[in-house]
Amino acid sequence: MDYDALFRQHLNQLQDEGNYRVFAELERERGSFPRARRHSDGTVSDVTVWCSNDYLGMGQHPNVVAAMHEAVDRCGVGAGGTRNISGTNHDHVLLEAELADLHQKEAALLFTSGYVSNWASLGTLGAKLDGCVILSDALNHASMIEGIRHSRAEKRIWKHNDPEDLDRKLSQIDPDRPKVVAFESVYSMDGDIAPIEEICDVADAHGAMTYLDEVHAVGLYGPRGGGVAEERGLMDRVTLIEGTLGKAFGVVGGYITGSAPLIDFIRSFASGFIFTTALPPAVAAAARASISHLKTSQIERMRQRRNVEKLRARLDAIGIPHLPNPSHIVPVMVKDPVKCKMISDILLNDFGIYVQPINYPTVPKGTERLRFTPSPVHTDEDLDRLMAALTSLWSQCALARAVA
Ligand SMILES: *Cc1c(COP(=O)(O)O)cnc(C)c1O
Repeated sequence: MDYDALFRQHLNQLQDEGNYRVFAELERERGSFPRARRHSDGTVSDVTVWCSNDYLGMGQHPNVVAAMHEAVDRCGVGAGGTRNISGTNHDHVLLEAELADLHQKEAALLFTSGYVSNWASLGTLGAKLDGCVILSDALNHASMIEGIRHSRAEKRIWKHNDPEDLDRKLSQIDPDRPKVVAFESVYSMDGDIAPIEEICDVADAHGAMTYLDEVHAVGLYGPRGGGVAEERGLMDRVTLIEGTLGKAFGVVGGYITGSAPLIDFIRSFASGFIFTTALPPAVAAAARASISHLKTSQIERMRQRRNVEKLRARLDAIGIPHLPNPSHIVPVMVKDPVKCKMISDILLNDFGIYVQPINYPTVPKGTERLRFTPSPVHTDEDLDRLMAALTSLWSQCALARAVA
């Protein structure tokens, strides 16, 4: 058997479809974000990053950097074990208390990433609750889908952001079976936001628990950065809130929050929590500094919002179509995988502007896009340069403009 030939077959197919992923090799520079150095074929150049999930630049915030330095000096680098076998450090416990407080829940549990938190938590709920049915929004993230699949629980997919369809699907299920309604607040690719209150009303009417992924909202929405559920005064309506420490909080890690028995249940049964080394204490300390800062500081959220509005207005002014939504995510629709990749390559190579093309299977075919995430630290000059580049490219690539 020529295994490499088998691998190449699959890779060639990806390449033919224009969906082969190429990673930009960046070297982030503390204090200069959204500027970074880019390494390519032995040369180094400066780029401006327009697609980072370090939404607020917290990855370089002085308090966060200092907290990580301090913890490394105090504890060394690794946790030393799984949470069960010598790996539970004081910094983990403090961070879990901070997270429980952020979402006003009794307890929280840390995971090595948001992906793992979804995979392990949904996997455990679906596998351990006898007769459980999981009702999953049609556009849920891969980590939720994989967790549900892994649980082997019965799954029903309801129409994206459609409480009426959820109601119909719930009506068909035996009222005595445990039911989990799994959905997100801000959807990462379209930037639309779920009708959380209506979904909770429907779930309550059928005795279902709710599982909300606030990965793209924590740190960004709500007066203390607790997410869209906090902004709308709905945190107590949601049974389980899941989030990441790797996006707006700027570090790495994932977590869930909920009632004490719920969190103890996941802690006690989730393989993806139990059998893996705990996050380094310094990561926990940095994440706690970031969360704590964003609980009181509004300036990062305000500046980010202003930059999102500016980018949308400037795109409208030059007639470049972008998907309207109420969030901080600005998807510029190219609707062709090859052109999408080409524009991204030219922006990077000729203009020093980095925005990753988003192609299938991350988004449906025909909806390929450039996903812009303006931060509080992008300047007007950054915007000017981006607009000049896009104006020239849109003509070169013969792409449709929005009718003014
Ligand atoms: C990024 C993402 C995750 C995974 O979080 P990580 O901390 O990056 O592993 C989970 N859910 C959604 C909706 C995401 O976009």
